[in-house]
Amino acid sequence: MTNDRDVVIIGGGFAGLSAAVALAERGYRVTVVEKRSRLGGRATSHVDATTGEVVDNGQHVFLRAYQQTIRFLATIGTLDRLVFQDRLSLELVGPGGALTRLSAWPLPAPLHVAAGLLATRGLSFSDRLAAMAFGWRLWRRGGADTEGLTVDQWMERHAQPASVRERLWRPLALAVLNEDPALAAAAPFANVLVDALFTRAAWSAIGLPRTGLSALYTDASQAFIEHRGGRVLTGQTAAGLTVTRGRVSEVVLSTGERLGASWYVSAVPYINLPELLPSEVQLGHIAFLTSQGLASSPIISMYLWFDRPVLDRPFVGMIGTAWQWAFDRRALLGRSSSDGHIALVMSAAGHFITRSTDELLDLALAELHQLFPASRDARLLHRAVVKEPHATFSPRLGSDTHRPDQRTPLGNLFLAGDWTRTGLPASIEGAVRSGYRCAELIAGGGVGQRGA
Ligand SMILES: Cc1cc2nc3c(=O)[nH]c(=O)nc-3n(C[C@H](O)[C@H](O)[C@H](O)COP(=O)(O)OP(=O)(O)OC[C@H]3O[C@@H](n4cnc5c(N)ncnc54)[C@H](O)[C@@H]3O)c2cc1C
Repeated sequence: MTNDRDVVIIGGGFAGLSAAVALAERGYRVTVVEKRSRLGGRATSHVDATTGEVVDNGQHVFLRAYQQTIRFLATIGTLDRLVFQDRLSLELVGPGGALTRLSAWPLPAPLHVAAGLLATRGLSFSDRLAAMAFGWRLWRRGGADTEGLTVDQWMERHAQPASVRERLWRPLALAVLNEDPALAAAAPFANVLVDALFTRAAWSAIGLPRTGLSALYTDASQAFIEHRGGRVLTGQTAAGLTVTRGRVSEVVLSTGERLGASWYVSAVPYINLPELLPSEVQLGHIAFLTSQGLASSPIISMYLWFDRPVLDRPFVGMIGTAWQWAFDRRALLGRSSSDGHIALVMSAAGHFITRSTDELLDLALAELHQLFPASRDARLLHRAVVKEPHATFSPRLGSDTHRPDQRTPLGNLFLAGDWTRTGLPASIEGAVRSGYRCAELIAGGGVGQRGA
């Protein structure tokens, strides 16, 4: 027997779990169906078989501006597992050890960032003036002038010198958008910059988990849902939705089991959505656009264990190299140790995704030796590579028109996921924002304004 408070949610990543938690909190009886044996989707952890240590499928970075994510983690009781900087501070190392450092100043917004940009270490005075002028304009006008522009074109419009772009904006755009700034739309980058730099708690802009991702949110979400009478079914694939008279009437699992509910949320990646939809259902733009309009952009991560520490800070950007960011896992997890464990990240990694582990390792070691001399004497003990070919959708210019609203033409089916229309690039905050939006729409009886 179903009642109007039964909800089936397909997909157990940030989007599905945040929708489930928000609905369970409101008294709905939710069933989460996740095809993998563990929850978390593209933000998950596993135990490395050699070292026995928990590693993520890639280092994830949070922003203080991730307000919905912060609310979600507070609800499930794990917010204290995220550690935020006291004050925004970004360091990037380039060839010859050249350091670029941007730190917010303890001043009210926007002066904290304006002063920080004007004082950026490693840039010439004229570069700093140009960066500050850009920051000031961003504060005044946001992304109002980004329409139809790539990140590179937007930077040109704002006369950002090549050195500022290479040493500051390009590394940030790659990290935020997971796409080459020459291809990526400027609008979502502007939205993240405005949120990250100018929202109220921006001094402490960057947060990193001091646990693996599963301990950060999947385990606690499952406990939260089950404690409120819901179910979490892992290792169960939703094979399709049955649609009757314009509404979903059940989800058929690959085992043949059928789950009926009043409301359904698809929180699967865009590449998986068409599998769920019966061919006779003309979801029009959704079916067409998800298969044709969006493309994936890969991320490659590498975990390296050394016999000694090789980084002297918790995380650092790398300029002019294929690997882009390095994280000291021991420091992030709050462990002091005589050995070293780092995570390297390569975004927009399309050119490298077919490279072998050995090739990627050689590249990583060469680049580490070049930028961090301490690594040259360190002995490598173990390495692990995680390739995510479909890490995020590519936010190329025009991709936003292919991102559907959370509402669908089927009155009781909603779409969650980082790829739905959220105004943000594919990110944890976008995923959670979409999950909360679905929960609000369901709680509101399925009607509401379009757009997250
Ligand atoms: C390596 C890497 C690094 C990243 N770094 C950052 C970062 O630093 N900061 C940031 O904000 N974002 C980052 N991201 C992006 C972030 O991880 C994603 O935006 C977010 O996790 C997406 O969540 P989601 O719930 O929308 O999708 P997913 O996590 O993909 O969840 C969808 C789930 O649906 C399941 N599923 C699919 N089909 C079915 C089916 N038929 N039946 C049942 N289940 C199904 C999948 O198994 C999956 O678990 C990163 C991503 C990657 C891969």
